[in-house]
Amino acid sequence: MSVSTAPKAAKIARPKVRQTKMLIGGEWVDALNGETFTTYHPATEEKIADVPRATAQDVDRAVKAARKAFEEGPWPKMDARDRGRLLTKLADLVEAHLPELAALESLDNGKPITDATNADLPLVVDCLRYYGGWADKVHGQTIPIRGEYFCYTSREPVGVCGQIIPWNFPLLMVAWKWGPALATGNTIVMKPAEQTPLSCLRMAELALEAGFPPGVINVITGFGEAGAALVKHPDVDKIAFTGSTETAQHIMRDASQTLKRLTFELGGKSPNIVFADADLDAAIAGAEFGLFFNQGQCCCAGSRLFVEEKIHEKFVGRLVERAKQRRLGDPFDPATTQGPQVDKDQFDKIMDYIGRGKKAGAQCVTGGDREGTTGFFIQPTVFDNVTDDMDIATDEIFGPVLSVLPFKDIDEVVERANKTLYGLAAAVWTRDVAKAHRVAKSVRAGTVWINCYDVFDAAAPFGGFKMSGIGRELGEYALANYTEVKTVTMSLK
Ligand code: NAP
Ligand code: MG
Repeated sequence: MSVSTAPKAAKIARPKVRQTKMLIGGEWVDALNGETFTTYHPATEEKIADVPRATAQDVDRAVKAARKAFEEGPWPKMDARDRGRLLTKLADLVEAHLPELAALESLDNGKPITDATNADLPLVVDCLRYYGGWADKVHGQTIPIRGEYFCYTSREPVGVCGQIIPWNFPLLMVAWKWGPALATGNTIVMKPAEQTPLSCLRMAELALEAGFPPGVINVITGFGEAGAALVKHPDVDKIAFTGSTETAQHIMRDASQTLKRLTFELGGKSPNIVFADADLDAAIAGAEFGLFFNQGQCCCAGSRLFVEEKIHEKFVGRLVERAKQRRLGDPFDPATTQGPQVDKDQFDKIMDYIGRGKKAGAQCVTGGDREGTTGFFIQPTVFDNVTDDMDIATDEIFGPVLSVLPFKDIDEVVERANKTLYGLAAAVWTRDVAKAHRVAKSVRAGTVWINCYDVFDAAAPFGGFKMSGIGRELGEYALANYTEVKTVTMSLK
């Protein structure tokens, strides 16, 4: 791989960090006990800022503000068109501040500025606009029941929603959570990941500027302890969580006390299946992008690359060439295509998996080491001839580590693709239309891409089968996560 040294385009300036306090009831506040924690730039390991470390008492304050806004504020009673207009206005403000927000993402998360600018942020703007459009289109049905009755349903907001998000797409996760919740009249207490709180705080500032009433959106910063306090709080009606399957299991146990509504978007070990009759240029590009995009920190990463035996050798050779061309370096250099991993914990976890892959006898055909000595950079790594039972074939690594598994025929590959606890995404590359749809039908996954990878759109639902999640985000489906159905029956006698 090449380390970017002499970029053609000028480096992007680091952004000014404007907001480091929490938002509760329309006020910017510190933690009640005054404690803070530090967020770092993962490319240099330098300190960026201190932000409040919320405890259960801060969570309680935020929940009270959200409850007040829900019960007394104008929010749920507001004309749905006006709620939609506020979301659209927020989308406009995000668009107007796109360079600043993209740079904040690169600073806090370490992702290349080119990705933040061209991938994350445009999807954020789209998502907010999309749900702005839904606000006045959520309605019930009239139902012809037996007897002389008039029966109809209406859809009402769930109430106070706790939203807990990870660090891999910090602002995009904010948009996926806020869009459907706000369009349907809920109020929110959000906890961004401890590694990446800054863009969420700035977006909350823009939400106030757009005119969202106080208490509708609250943001608390902190660690898992704050997330757990939110999950246990008796006055929170619902938890929407994106992150690891393990944390989701904790949340499910904690939420059982109060029977909260739960939606989960969790991990994966997604199969990316390449048949010999595929457009190989496209498939190679898709295999690279499907795994290495965002430093491999994608829940839907195509981390099990199944390649048909007939083309296996040639395919891996060309893929390795591509992997070597990735440019690791300063996230603020527009030529950089791969940044650092988000933090030391993730870096150590990934390096441990690389060690385990080597020990298990998989063939490391490129990468396999740390890059440089500062920052959490890991070389794009490809393991060939991986077998189904190796840890690197079964576990979510969440880093730039690709496992290649050769296969003989369609029935075999479908069976092996499904031999996982996960079911988030899958992809298939072939010119045979029937084969493509046979795989799409047989794979137990919430999303299947045919001859493409990582195509996201605010209108297309996304979520997992099996241990990859519960419920669907995006599209019309996400509105169901944030509404209760009420059935009203009236006698006509
Ligand atoms: P994580 O523990 O699942 O964290 C996600 C969010 O949950 C963070 O905001 C976290 O807060 C919070 N949290 C942690 N413990 C909690 C608890 N007991 N109750 C409520 N909330 C809690 O993920 P991670 O530790 O950052 O990453 C670990 C692994 O998760 C990764 O290696 C990857 O495999 C997977 N992951 C998946 C996704 C995805 O998109 N599906 C995203 C990120 C990570 P803190 O930030 O304070 O921990
Ligand atoms: Mg950080």
